[in-house]
Amino acid sequence: MSEDWPMEQEAHTAVLVARSLLDDPGKLDHVLADDEDGWLVGDDAEHDLDEEHYASMCLHDVVDLLPQVTALAGLPAGMGAIWDAERTTWVLLSPDEPDGDADAREYREARLAEWVHPGSPMAEANVSVGLTEISAAADAPARAVRYLSREDDGTWLFVGFEVPDPDEQSDVEVDTLELGHVAALYPEVVELLDAEPGEVFYREAPDAEWIQMIEDGK
Ligand SMILES: [Zn+2]
Repeated sequence: MSEDWPMEQEAHTAVLVARSLLDDPGKLDHVLADDEDGWLVGDDAEHDLDEEHYASMCLHDVVDLLPQVTALAGLPAGMGAIWDAERTTWVLLSPDEPDGDADAREYREARLAEWVHPGSPMAEANVSVGLTEISAAADAPARAVRYLSREDDGTWLFVGFEVPDPDEQSDVEVDTLELGHVAALYPEVVELLDAEPGEVFYREAPDAEWIQMIEDGK
């Protein structure tokens, strides 16, 4: 392997890949990261997770076949991404886990036990779409959190640098991700996750210090 290996997992990590993609990579639909290092790369059909439909491949072969997966390097465990071919963009998601599934329940309990902040890592946070999408274009802008707010009801809003002035702009387009996934994607917010409801923070640049916004008495 060259020194330019773009992924966090080791190059020979086994990945499950929908067999249809071997013939037609254009059928790429999604990537799911399991709770360890494993990835599943799927097409747009629903299959049983069996050998007839999925092949186990080395990650380096997956990168050769589907170079756009490199944009997902560092995808946090338990997250998924849908491939939007038209926009050459990955749309991140926090997959629903089956309620009745014992493994899923155990995983949720483990995540909750590790969570040191108020609330739950599974709580839905509102996140601006600049932070929930990853462009696979070579000149894609960097993604970073500019503004975060813990609303009075305890829910979170995270806004990226694609929005010029989140405090003035009321129509920020948002999607939802689990709070724990936001913290894994954007570790720079972790120091603020003990904020009280009503607290708002922002920063001037992706490497700048956080500043707490004080309400102007309205
Ligand atoms: Zn290999």
